[in-house]
Amino acid sequence: MYRYADVIIDISLDKLDRPFSYHIPDELVGKLEAGMRVLVPFGQGNITKKAYIVALTETTKWDPAKVKDIIGISKDAVSMEEKQVELAAFIRRNFGGTMNQALKVVLPAKAKVKKLLLREVERLMNRDELISLKGEAERKHQSAKAKLLDALLEQETIPYEWITGKLGVSAATIGSLEKAGALRINSVTEFRNPVHFAEGLEDDRKHLSDAQKFIVDEVTKDLEDNTPGKYLIHGITGSGKTEVYMALIEEVVKRGQQAIFLIPEIALTYQTLMRFFKRFGNRVSVMNSTLSPGEKYDQCMRAKNGEIDIVIGPRSALFVPFPNLGMIVMDEEHETSYKSESSPKYHARIVAEHLADISGAAFVLGSATPSLESYYNAKTGKYRLFELKERLTGGYLPNVTTVDLREELNSGNKSIFSRKLKALLEDRIAKGEQSMLFLNRRGYSGFISCRSCGEVMKCPHCDVSLSEHYGGKMMCHYCGYETKKPSLCPKCGSKYIAGFKAGTEQIEESLLKMFPGVKVLRMDADTTKTKDSYEKILSAFANEEAQILVGTQMIVKGHDFPKVTLVGVIAADMSLGNSDYRSAERTFCLLTQAVGRAGRGTVPGEAVIQTYQPDHYAVAFSEKQDYEGFFEEELAYRKMLGYPPAAHMLAIMVFGPGSDDTKAVANSIANRAKTFIENEVEGGFATAPVLGPTPAVIGKIKDLYRFVVYIKAESYDILVKAKDSLEEYLNDNPPKREFVQFDFDPINMM
Ligand code: ADP
Ligand code: ZN
Ligand code: ZN
Repeated sequence: MYRYADVIIDISLDKLDRPFSYHIPDELVGKLEAGMRVLVPFGQGNITKKAYIVALTETTKWDPAKVKDIIGISKDAVSMEEKQVELAAFIRRNFGGTMNQALKVVLPAKAKVKKLLLREVERLMNRDELISLKGEAERKHQSAKAKLLDALLEQETIPYEWITGKLGVSAATIGSLEKAGALRINSVTEFRNPVHFAEGLEDDRKHLSDAQKFIVDEVTKDLEDNTPGKYLIHGITGSGKTEVYMALIEEVVKRGQQAIFLIPEIALTYQTLMRFFKRFGNRVSVMNSTLSPGEKYDQCMRAKNGEIDIVIGPRSALFVPFPNLGMIVMDEEHETSYKSESSPKYHARIVAEHLADISGAAFVLGSATPSLESYYNAKTGKYRLFELKERLTGGYLPNVTTVDLREELNSGNKSIFSRKLKALLEDRIAKGEQSMLFLNRRGYSGFISCRSCGEVMKCPHCDVSLSEHYGGKMMCHYCGYETKKPSLCPKCGSKYIAGFKAGTEQIEESLLKMFPGVKVLRMDADTTKTKDSYEKILSAFANEEAQILVGTQMIVKGHDFPKVTLVGVIAADMSLGNSDYRSAERTFCLLTQAVGRAGRGTVPGEAVIQTYQPDHYAVAFSEKQDYEGFFEEELAYRKMLGYPPAAHMLAIMVFGPGSDDTKAVANSIANRAKTFIENEVEGGFATAPVLGPTPAVIGKIKDLYRFVVYIKAESYDILVKAKDSLEEYLNDNPPKREFVQFDFDPINMM
């Protein structure tokens, strides 16, 4: 019999981030479960606080006389499933942060939200009675009344809002018919459904190709044998992966189970949802941060109550509490947005895999350019590998040419367009075909520097360069700081201050100059600030309202444009340059996906990659569209230097307002880590080297200095233990103004 409960006090003070033991009073025995929210007396003054139960126990290790009683169950809270508590514990254990932070991650809906009450009008009279009443109304020229009676003749129940809205009948008229006994007004509760498509859209189900069918059959066999596995589908874009996912999910639903379909970004929801809706109707829903609290809560309730079978969304969709989860699908699994950017910095792939394990669900990953991690797992037998090598729409893989920008300069071409790319653009414009130009760099325009002394204009709050904007302004895209571009260099007084012209705005400008009258659309962080802008630009391009689409990496994802027959990569090196162990992978992936945008239709496409480093293996392998070749070379590099997936790495980031103080805290952390590894880890530093502290790649953001300590180890577990030891240390020695963040297998070098 459980007589005690471990609870986490629901406030975000890290110091309270440990379970407290409470006694379960008689009247609550048997009524409590892990995940429930309860009220407890807390502290000296016994203030009533809300708390989450994380575990029930038979005994307590504290003096029972001093353990206080739980007051009662908190009424206004969503109770968590046991599985969610387990997931929170898993996230906290493997990614650091506090239990409260982890609990917040796994609760897609934070609190109960008032139910949505809908009113409807129900008819009470039979046909003849209604007809005679209508005749009477017409004689008296009560046209509104007649209209409503007409509607009631057609339908037994009508939404109240429809009558007062569309039909234009007043509440008074409805009331008078209610008095006359013709109708009744009912209140019905309804869960909010964020999916609004018309019923009856036709499912454009395809007859599966042999390669697709093979995957579906193999996975289905495992489902039938009750041995759901883990699978990686490596298939070029357009090879029919989504069609396979849908067929697999159909199998799962057929067995009375549910499925989670993860997508990397909210922006991709619409098109995916549309396809799923056509097949699964309103058994499919979405979960993401654009939903209102009420909508989020209701999706959880609908999932619990068995109203839906499938939920689509980014990371947070993982935490929708399905009663009998049968499959998790993770599309575009290589995308970095699957990793949370705030504490706890969990990776959805790892959490999803754990959820699949504890639910007995199948786990399906898919990508055209799998992450090194997943492909490594496939190669080492942890995942089963499937390949889809052909496009099913009959499109061709494009012809790829690499252009050496150094040679362009040597031949006197100072433009951002190589002669080859310019000629091809001209050709496409003449033929009425579309082109996409891709700048593989975050942000918009280049940095501003003095041509005389080389001084770079930097943000006073962040250690990054300012970029040039229209109207002679400079802007920081980390903190939004804005200032006028100086006319003289602040260092040497020279007047030759200029921006490095290679932003999307500049490309657009040059295009308009080069091809007067050409229609250009631009998609970057600037043009997609408002809610629907992303969708608007893409559909405008799909409707051929422009011949050229210029953009950052946003344009390489999703969406088919059959008329695009040319893709140009302006400077492949932009993502190679930074001092980051994943930059080759990122570049290969971006180039491959970008190139893949050409030739989706019936006309063969062409792609041009402009670069200063044509011999770099990331460029060379993407030119050949050779994933396997890239993987081998990249893995060899990761093995040699001990980077993931060959080994693991923990980044400990320290932030603080003073440079010296922050560095001192980082130093004490590095020392503590070293002591821990020396004493507790077999092999010491040879097994787990500690590096740093060093200033982070960007040493300051928003006036906070950033220092980083790295620990590398072959075993993830050693890193988890090191993190535990550091958290304990920080609990005992809390820094004054600095704070610390853990990042396992970081996506970017800090
Ligand atoms: P991916 O998810 O790999 O990009 P999709 O499933 O979106 O691929 O398929 C790409 C295109 O090919 C879509 O237009 C889809 O309708 C079509 N398609 C998929 N499977 C088939 C098939 N078996 N026969 C014909 N067309 C197909
Ligand atoms: Zn200068
Ligand atoms: Zn700034």
